[in-house]
Amino acid sequence: MTTTKKRLLTGDRPTGKLHLGHYVGSIENRVKLQDEYDCYFIIADLHTLTTKPDKASIAEVHGNIRDMVLDYLACGIDPNRSTIFVQSRVPATFELNLYFEMLVTLPRLIRLPTIKDMARAASLDDETLPFGLVGYPVLQAVDILLPRAVLVPVGRDNEAHVEIAREIARRFNYTYGAEVFPEPDAMVPSDKLLPGTDGQSKMSKSLGNAILLSDDPKTVEQKVRGMYTDPARIRADIPGTVEGNPVFVYHDNFNDNVDEVNDLKERYRTGKVGDVEVKRKLAAAINRFLSPMRERRVQYEGNTKLIDEIIGDGTTRMNAVANETMRMVRDAMGLFA
Ligand code: ATP
Ligand code: MG
Repeated sequence: MTTTKKRLLTGDRPTGKLHLGHYVGSIENRVKLQDEYDCYFIIADLHTLTTKPDKASIAEVHGNIRDMVLDYLACGIDPNRSTIFVQSRVPATFELNLYFEMLVTLPRLIRLPTIKDMARAASLDDETLPFGLVGYPVLQAVDILLPRAVLVPVGRDNEAHVEIAREIARRFNYTYGAEVFPEPDAMVPSDKLLPGTDGQSKMSKSLGNAILLSDDPKTVEQKVRGMYTDPARIRADIPGTVEGNPVFVYHDNFNDNVDEVNDLKERYRTGKVGDVEVKRKLAAAINRFLSPMRERRVQYEGNTKLIDEIIGDGTTRMNAVANETMRMVRDAMGLFA
């Protein structure tokens, strides 16, 4: 498969099933970008080792990878156009990582707030901070530069890591006098976080407040019924607050019937609608929204062989690109041939 489209790289650590927050925060954008870019979607299993190198955590990754790829496919990521691959099965990753480690300083990495945040989240301090966690952004630079990607869609928190990749690309090209790597641009699709069903500011699996893309219609109804709304509104005839109310944030994001949403907001503000109706219509809207995903999902669900084949094909394609890059790298560096 040859294409003249520019390359894009983005991806996720294999943490398992995706939810509506992931969809609006990143996946929706990826699906669209497939038209314009040659997309590489990395399943960054090596990155999970930086905080969870134990065997039990590694064992969890297999199922997580398949769940995540199934969600990608359900969302409309097209394996015929885009390359889905597993990081640990691209051997060039390890080699390029070592070369890049020479091109960035330790203070530059240690000063990154993201490293401190990840360390804190994993209960690590200055004494227990692994070398590999400090190197997290270097490994990410490898992911980005191995396919020589020019665009990197990321969350705001990862923008600083794309900057490290730009610095390493510049430094490599300058040090070895060859234009091997482009300087990739970060793209932050949206700063808005989808709130959780419990009203917390972030929908998150670890917080247990997520509606999964793989939830069935009954589960969606159940989760919506239990959603947090305006706590001051103890009766249907009390005027309620729409702004920031997660039920209406979801209506705005997922309900394709704008007239219905406006009517519900109007009646909510004036105390003329009960929570039951607002939520019933929301559950129906989310189920309409998820319906095309469910249709695509059935083609793959339960077919582990097919999913593994898609991952295997993508990884083969990625390795071909990676090997081409490594030939350029070794040639530029003048390593023993
Ligand atoms: P979780 O918090 O459910 O464990 P995660 O930790 O795997 O999810 P992140 O690493 O925080 O997710 O984010 C992965 C991508 O998904 C990022 O681009 C982030 O912006 C997006 N994302 C995750 N949760 C949300 C959300 N609630 N609203 C919007 N975007 C989100
Ligand atoms: Mg998480």
